[in-house]
Amino acid sequence: MAVSRGIHFFQNPGPTNIPDRVLRAMDRGTIDFTGAQFKAIAEECFAGLKRIFKTRQTILGYAASGHGAWEAALVNLFSPGDKVLVVETGYFSLNWGMRCEAFGLEVETLGNDWRNAADPAALETRLRDDREHAIKGVLVVHNETSTGVVHDVAALRRAIDAAAHPALFLVDVISSLASMDFRMDEWGVDVVVAGSQKGLMLPTGMAFTGVSAKALAAAADAKLPRVYWDWRRLVEGSSQAVWNGTIPVHFFYGLQEALHMLEEEGLDNVFARHHRLAEATRRAVRVWRQNDGPETFAVDPRAQSDSVTAVLTPEGYDANKVREVCLSKFNVSLGGGLGPLQGRVFRIGHLGDLNEPMILGSLAAVEMALELTGVPHGKGGVAAAMDYLVHEA
Ligand code: PLP
Repeated sequence: MAVSRGIHFFQNPGPTNIPDRVLRAMDRGTIDFTGAQFKAIAEECFAGLKRIFKTRQTILGYAASGHGAWEAALVNLFSPGDKVLVVETGYFSLNWGMRCEAFGLEVETLGNDWRNAADPAALETRLRDDREHAIKGVLVVHNETSTGVVHDVAALRRAIDAAAHPALFLVDVISSLASMDFRMDEWGVDVVVAGSQKGLMLPTGMAFTGVSAKALAAAADAKLPRVYWDWRRLVEGSSQAVWNGTIPVHFFYGLQEALHMLEEEGLDNVFARHHRLAEATRRAVRVWRQNDGPETFAVDPRAQSDSVTAVLTPEGYDANKVREVCLSKFNVSLGGGLGPLQGRVFRIGHLGDLNEPMILGSLAAVEMALELTGVPHGKGGVAAAMDYLVHEA
């Protein structure tokens, strides 16, 4: 295998680049997690997370990847046979729904073509039809990482309210938190599912749920079996009092530093930076689209994600070949297509600890890989991205 030199450009939509500051913060000895020193760090971290989630309600942490927080939400809120409505957005929405089925829930899917955002009017109509209020939960993925489509959570909340439906509102923010605006309390979200390895710039392995008072009340009556995830064991008042097992102290060191970085930059500036780098990426893809080349998978410009762009290759051209060349020749790692999009899209992640030269370098590698793999495309995508960054951003 050829030896790679220089920086590995990690352009996946998560995990993301871990900043040196976070790595250095984690490069410390263990401390007693029952002591006052750790308690102060944990309190600071949960207070910081509340500002990122934009909530005054409860946030819980687990040693787990996002899948764990998905599961925690389900087992705490529902009883066998309960019906949930999965708002289809792409691979991750269906995957969450699959887990509901595994726990014996009845799953209904509000269908969607994946290239457009879920329609709040369709949600409202479906909920109005549910006169008996059989639907106990509505599940939405804010930013569908498999497609690069972002969903209007506030509008989906308004749809639930317009139907005067009491269902719990569960939102996965795994690839949007700390990259795009999200407001748990203002948008009336009952359970927020988040992970460490994307906008929070940490390694994979810590997951979080934001839990509303309504969701905590539902958890008191829910009948699905649970131990590790059991909010009744973990929460005291409105904060986490118990951690099952050994606390991952090093994650807290890293989280504390990541929160410092986000707050130094200012959340609004973090979102603006993500938007700038995402738009530069979209400008490049728009040029590649010439000559019947690749296109942005997300159709509606208003729903194009600021954390990931899925790029659809022309029919008959394997998106994985483009990825392989990027990695083997240029040391640039992209995300692949998931589920039915396997081989059809490659995904450029532009979230987390990232700046202009990093995204331009990655776009240059993609443009070279299109040429090397014989995928038809327009030339000058990188120049268009530079032009946008200089004159319009
Ligand atoms: N939900 C979304 C939107 C995701 O992007 C991912 C992972 O990329 C997951 C859930 C699963 O999270 P994890 O891989 O941390 O278990």
